[in-house]
Amino acid sequence: MEHQDGTFRSYLEEKGGVEQPPVVDPNAVARFKNRKRKQKVLTAKDYVQGICSGNRTLLSQAITIIESNLQEHYELAQEIITECLPFSGNSIRIGITGVPGAGKSTFIESFGKYITQKKHTLAVLAIDPSSERTKGSILGDKTRMVELSVDENAYIRPSPSAGSLGGVARKTRETIILCEAAGFDVIFVETVGVGQSETAVHSMVDFFLLLMLAGAGDELQGIKRGIMEMADSISITKADGSNIDKAKVARSEYQTALSLFPPHPSGVTQKVTVCSALEKTGLSEIWKIIEEYVSTTKHAGFFEEKRNQQAKYWMYESIHEQLQRNFYSSPKIKKHLAATEQKVIQQQKSSFVAAQELLDIYFQYKEKS
Ligand code: GDP
Repeated sequence: MEHQDGTFRSYLEEKGGVEQPPVVDPNAVARFKNRKRKQKVLTAKDYVQGICSGNRTLLSQAITIIESNLQEHYELAQEIITECLPFSGNSIRIGITGVPGAGKSTFIESFGKYITQKKHTLAVLAIDPSSERTKGSILGDKTRMVELSVDENAYIRPSPSAGSLGGVARKTRETIILCEAAGFDVIFVETVGVGQSETAVHSMVDFFLLLMLAGAGDELQGIKRGIMEMADSISITKADGSNIDKAKVARSEYQTALSLFPPHPSGVTQKVTVCSALEKTGLSEIWKIIEEYVSTTKHAGFFEEKRNQQAKYWMYESIHEQLQRNFYSSPKIKKHLAATEQKVIQQQKSSFVAAQELLDIYFQYKEKS
């Protein structure tokens, strides 16, 4: 419609439009602001009390604080962890690994249900430093584990969002402590990423289970020999339908392969089983192996010794991680790093001398500050 001044306006505008109700109810806004004002800032003690009394909301919030990269959260997180430590340790920590497609999530769903039906409480954690896939998305894992996610005896927490492997792994290890304080007596830690996370998971669990496919082009399915050596047990997955025989052949092949390795440090022979997560077979055998492993290694003192070694390992990991973070975030280093790197590339300086110079700059700066 052409206006008197020659401009065009819409019909609605011309008529002044239809009066619209406010988009948000103003009373609701006031209520929300009031609630926010009244909302108490929780202390570490509040979180710990909540966690120890089994409050899942507070547990989830505390894990989010652990996962946060904010300095103020870091301090609160450490306080919560320290206060939860005396209530932790009373679980069986089980690492579950295998190449993508090996059937890990389907297995965790079936095996998890098997365990909760035995009146255990289960927390499922994951380590996935390589991807943004699960970032902030609870659905990421919950859609993979439909039955378990509605099981009141299970708690599923996706991997902390992508970051350095060391950082992601540390956060998962700290989450284990909180889950134990919350009373979960079985903890699964699944490796979602490919390749590097196995060592990190191995260093935070009591029992490490490797899931493998039968006859999948082999070359050990990209699973390095070291990972087979690390495993406390191997299970050949998808042993159902026409795959059963292949799975059984694979079982004896892997059992023979393992017998050629040096004896396992736990003193317990690594057993190979077959299972089907779809048909829920072979699960009780795996659980029996885990229970026997725990009782044998506890009796021999290995269980506690391994946990002590792991605690020590994570102390050194934390030192390395914090030193690195501090070094690279130092303003002096930020200023000099790129130029020094160029000198190394142009062969004006050796890598060693360049590193030494940067370290000197860092330590001088630290002394002064
Ligand atoms: P992940 O990548 O290791 O977590 O593997 P998934 O659990 O997503 O499984 C990969 C595929 O294998 C899916 O299509 C599953 O349905 C299938 N699968 C998993 N477990 C079994 C099983 O026990 N038997 C059969 N036949 N298929 C399975």
